[in-house]
Amino acid sequence: MPEYSIGIDLGGTNLRAAAIDRSGHMLEKISGATGFAEGKDAVLTDIVGAISKLRDKYGADGLAGIGVGVPGFIRMKEGIITGSNNLPYLEHVPIRDEISGRLGARVILENDANAAALGESWLGAGRDVDDLVLLTLGTGIGGGIIANGRILRGAVGMAGEFGHITAVPGGNPCGCGNQGCLEKHASATAVTAMARLMQLGEDLSAKDVFDLAKRDDVVGEKARAIWRVVGENLGGAIAALINTFNFPLYLLSGGVLPAWEYFEPHMTRVARERSFTFRATLNETRIAKATLGNEAGLYGAAYLPWIEK
Ligand SMILES: [Zn+2]
Repeated sequence: MPEYSIGIDLGGTNLRAAAIDRSGHMLEKISGATGFAEGKDAVLTDIVGAISKLRDKYGADGLAGIGVGVPGFIRMKEGIITGSNNLPYLEHVPIRDEISGRLGARVILENDANAAALGESWLGAGRDVDDLVLLTLGTGIGGGIIANGRILRGAVGMAGEFGHITAVPGGNPCGCGNQGCLEKHASATAVTAMARLMQLGEDLSAKDVFDLAKRDDVVGEKARAIWRVVGENLGGAIAALINTFNFPLYLLSGGVLPAWEYFEPHMTRVARERSFTFRATLNETRIAKATLGNEAGLYGAAYLPWIEK
């Protein structure tokens, strides 16, 4: 009788692994740096090592499976990663089968933002609904879609790329080849860039710009203008998502969340203006903060073995 699963969150700079039981109780978490610079074999060895350590401690008999969240697009059928900026050497490697083969256990690969959305749906802000969208607002903007309690992946795992929705036609150029992508106009990186353009400082974090927004002077006014722009751009994108999905919940997570009080009113206003679905369902539709922070992906990865056959 399986009692727990193991979730892995492979970030840009570190590796975290956790043993989590069926009810969502975290038994143990391991985190640390990994040999990213040393390439594929070093990273695979670190992943397998972390899993083995937890499995040895909690027992192979009770292990339901292993979920691995990674940045990049996942081709589920083949168990490979494509399009990963952070881990280029893992692209097109049969990473699922390599990990699975070394451990003799079932492994499920998943995109990290999809895993975070699943985590919020299992144990976080989305516990009470079956359908939600999560937008992760960090260096870029990513996200995940949970429909009927399951991750909506699209044909080849590329669904939920909200960061590359056009927010500003003809806007800032983006690495994806488009111009005016949402992440160029509403991510934490975009906040830093706007602060620089407005001569508030060279490398301010989103948190710094949040702190400046509290000031009762011209600097504060400029900082609040940045959050207004961020809010309006997010509001436009969320309006489109509400019209598309008619889901009850749209969650935001990541580095811009501390400034919620400054961007949320603008976001909600624009979402109302632009989405008739939102206006018609104000009591049934919520835009809210995610609650699991950067643990969401770890929980979501660990949940995969319970729901994926
Ligand atoms: Zn883009």
